Amino acid sequence: MPFLRWLLRRTDGSTDPTYNPRRTSELYAKTPEGYIIAQDIACQYEYAREQPCSHCGGRLNVVAQLNRASQGLNELVCLCHSCHRRTSFIFDISNEVYQKWLARNLGKNYTQSYDGPPRKAAQS
Ligand SMILES: [Zn+2]
Repeated sequence: MPFLRWLLRRTDGSTDPTYNPRRTSELYAKTPEGYIIAQDIACQYEYAREQPCSHCGGRLNVVAQLNRASQGLNELVCLCHSCHRRTSFIFDISNEVYQKWLARNLGKNYTQSYDGPPRKAAQS
């Protein structure tokens, strides 16, 4: 059953290169600027899939990924299945958990692509 095996791998995450097994409790917390803290690639798509359309409550589909790495950000643009309204989620990828995961994945090809210190979750 190849599909079931694929599904189990995705849930476990251990063999999915888009999943960071070192996610922390700050995942999805907001920075002081209002960006959503991402700790890998997979979590951004998981987050977008779990949000209902703010207009009709319909299901969202990711239709574009805007590379804003020079700002330490990544933006996912979604369209609602039902009403076709557009929604964007802007993720912080400057944080230490994301950058360490990226550095492990890229090895010697890793370079920090934004200026300034990593963003952190806002104090609540
Ligand atoms: Zn909608």
